[in-house]
Amino acid sequence: ETMISMTGVAKWYGAFQALNDINISVRKGEKIVLCGPSGSGKSTLIRCINHLEAYQKGEIRVGGILLGHQAKSIDAVRREVGMVFQQFNLFPHLTVLQNCMLAPMRALGLGKAEAEGRARQLLERVKIAEQAEKYPAQLSGGQQQRVAIARALCMRPQVMLFDEPTSALDPEMVKEVLDTMIDLAREGMTMICVTHEMGFARQVADRVIFMASGGIIEEAPPAEFFSDP
Ligand code: ADP
Ligand code: ADP
Repeated sequence: ETMISMTGVAKWYGAFQALNDINISVRKGEKIVLCGPSGSGKSTLIRCINHLEAYQKGEIRVGGILLGHQAKSIDAVRREVGMVFQQFNLFPHLTVLQNCMLAPMRALGLGKAEAEGRARQLLERVKIAEQAEKYPAQLSGGQQQRVAIARALCMRPQVMLFDEPTSALDPEMVKEVLDTMIDLAREGMTMICVTHEMGFARQVADRVIFMASGGIIEEAPPAEFFSDP
């Protein structure tokens, strides 16, 4: 079963072509690690999947839904796609619990009690339930990133996208976030991760996709990818 398909996708920022003829098919439950030099288009590619960036050519489908440029199809796709960024992007004036409850209440129309139940369950799952009443600034970077993961999961997405989720963290906090991502992978989540953590890639990825200059130049299982020629 195909969860994400990109066919012939191209994107320009003004005259600059950031993505060139991207073709990717991701099966349900598959884990992809995207790597490549800075500026090669990794971030742009995953941001196109939930239409944080518009693409100008080709086709993107998520869970069978065609991602067009109308608000309706964008909303439908975004409900299925959770995203975690390098910067945690938590709302500073809301508690951890409130951060997690907001989207399910606004976008899914859940009642307060149901949203809170869901949020507490997911905070438990990322091992941060004790911090529910705190504000983001009172947490470590690693804890904030786990909250960001829980917040995305509160929408019960079918797909999770990670854009360098550990790059802004102090080294001692990287492992706790990677462990959370590994748990999620084991539970069968479909994932696309932009990361330089090659240990993670080796352990979790079904496929590593290597990008350069806006295109995919190599694609292989991690064992093959990291083996010496
Ligand atoms: P990566 O994630 O691989 O570092 P990006 O997708 O962030 O690459 O960027 C790909 C290219 O597109 C880079 O050359 C970058 O400078 C350019 N780019 C990214 N965002 C914009 C933007 N909003 N406007 C213009 N150029 C952009
Ligand atoms: P990353 O490498 O994590 O993708 P960047 O530092 O490349 O982040 O980009 C940070 C922000 O600046 C993004 O929103 C990106 O779209 C934008 N950006 C990147 N390159 C350019 C550019 N050449 N012109 C305008 N905006 C850009």
